[in-house]
Parts: sequence; C-alpha cells; structure tokens
Amino acid sequence: MKRYNFLIQAAFMSLAFLATFHEAGAQNRQVVAKAQSVSGDRFAFAARSPKGANVYGVNRPSAAMLSAIDRGLINLFAVSRKNGYNRRLSYSDYSIFIARADRNTDSQGKYSPDVAVGAAQYAGTGYDQGGYIYAAGMVIAFNPGAFLIADHSKDFQRVSDLVRYEGEHLVLFHNDRRRYSQTADHSQGGGHPILQ
Ligand SMILES: [Zn+2]
Repeated sequence: MKRYNFLIQAAFMSLAFLATFHEAGAQNRQVVAKAQSVSGDRFAFAARSPKGANVYGVNRPSAAMLSAIDRGLINLFAVSRKNGYNRRLSYSDYSIFIARADRNTDSQGKYSPDVAVGAAQYAGTGYDQGGYIYAAGMVIAFNPGAFLIADHSKDFQRVSDLVRYEGEHLVLFHNDRRRYSQTADHSQGGGHPILQ
C-alpha cells in the first residue's frame, strides 16, 4: 500500500512537471507567433547567446549579434541593479527576435536596420509612414520577456544599445509598474535610456 501511494504520488508529480513544461512550451509558441505576426517574418532558427539568452532568427543568428545581445543585457542588468530593480535579471529571462530589416538606412542615410510595424498609437505622429512606422526595436511579450530588433551586419554597438533599451521596458514592467506605464509609449514623448 505504501509503495502504491508512492507510485501515485510520483505519477502526480511527473504530471505536474509535464503540465508546467507544456505550459512553458505553449507560452513560447504564443510569443513566437506574436513576433511573426508583428514582423511578417518566420523565425526558423533558435539559438542561445553565450550568456544564455534565448534568440530567434529568420537566419541563423551570427556570433556578432549574439555577443552584442549579451553586452546589451549586461548593461541592462547593471543599470537595473543600480536603480534597485532585482527581478528578471537573468539572461534566460529574455527572448530576442532578430527580424529581417525592412530598411537599412534612415531618412538621413545613416546605417539603421529597422522593422516596419503597424502604426497603432503612432498613427498621425511624425513617425507615421502611412499606416506603419519604422521601429528599431519593439517589445513583443512580458512573460517570457521578449522583444524584436532587426538583423545587423555592422554597428553592433547599436544592437547592444537596442537590447538595453527594449529591455528597460521589460525590467520596469516587472519591477516598477508605475514607471513602466509612464515610459511605455514613446508617442507621448520621452525616449531611451530611461534608466540612468
Ligand atoms: Zn522604448
């Protein structure tokens, strides 16, 4: 009888584990689907940065992109701690989608790989290109924390900065909801860096 109870308990435990595991899998699939619908891209490649961030790419993420992502997260975590924010400061808390750039230079001709996304709250503002805007980065989800940037072949400092900037929204969401709300929408003014 004891052994029987133990078996039942073990079965329940593994069921609970499987349920958690499946839930995480379903959540990840939802986030991938959202990133695909926002960017119009298909993220066929999944990778992990050297520090352990989850990275998805239209193409196989380059080593230079992966280490630029890590440098951005290092900076994000440092400035977050400095501000007393301690939640979601693990590399594995972050999923970064590397989309295909919809433009490679900005209106001044400067190298600036960006992604065209629906204008939403930016409609009618100076950002509006006629129903869409060019975004350098965009938050996709909060659980797990996910955002989108465009693929770069140079200027990897820009990639690190974008990772830090998009990450700021996620850190604030999980650590300081009031400040998150005040800074989430750049159409109301204010930009990055938010955390000093
Ligand atoms: Zn932002």
